[in-house]
Amino acid sequence: MKKILKPYLDIVFPAVCVCCGASLAVSGKHLCHWCRSDRFEKADHDEFLICPDSVLFLHMMWKFDKGGYLQNLMHNLKYNFMKGVGEEMGYVLGHSLIDSRESDWLQDMDQLNPLLIPVPLHKSKLRKRGYNQAGAIADGLSRATGWSVVATDSIKRVRNTKTQTGLSTEERKKNLHGAFVVVSPASFQNRLPVIVDDVFTTGATTYELAGILSGPDQKAGIITVAMA
Ligand SMILES: [Zn+2]
Repeated sequence: MKKILKPYLDIVFPAVCVCCGASLAVSGKHLCHWCRSDRFEKADHDEFLICPDSVLFLHMMWKFDKGGYLQNLMHNLKYNFMKGVGEEMGYVLGHSLIDSRESDWLQDMDQLNPLLIPVPLHKSKLRKRGYNQAGAIADGLSRATGWSVVATDSIKRVRNTKTQTGLSTEERKKNLHGAFVVVSPASFQNRLPVIVDDVFTTGATTYELAGILSGPDQKAGIITVAMA
């Protein structure tokens, strides 16, 4: 049915990139080749701040462009139910991670038994938005890396924190403190927690999670699509 309808649907709703509106050469994708690989400036990890001890690695793919295409795309991802777009970005993110490392890095990581942990949304926000955008990104990342995604109820956001916009780093930290609770510690045993989010701003959210998921012998990885 879908196959028969497709040519007609393309005339009514031509397949275009959700980010820039360019027509798509390959059907079944949401982003054009340019948006996937060239449009956005790569995040510069060298200029990066010092991470807390709990962080084993941090990978961010693109530099956030205030007022630009990426900001618009991330906004749509959050509020306009673009699960497929999130998965596609997660897949691109997974490959950018692998490409940025030494050739045997992925194998070394596999031995640490990584577990992808999308930053949980509070249930009231989840109800409003219909899905967790970080979860969609984690699904795509999983496809690219082969790492599994944690079961949704293993970790919860128990406080619906106020918006982080306009808060200082210190205020953000306070705002997030105690926001997450591990429900089933067994899910995390002997796993390397790898936290997944859409945008890394000051790190308050991902560092808070890394703090509660790490221990004396366990660090956490952090992967985000954008770096603000
Ligand atoms: Zn595009």
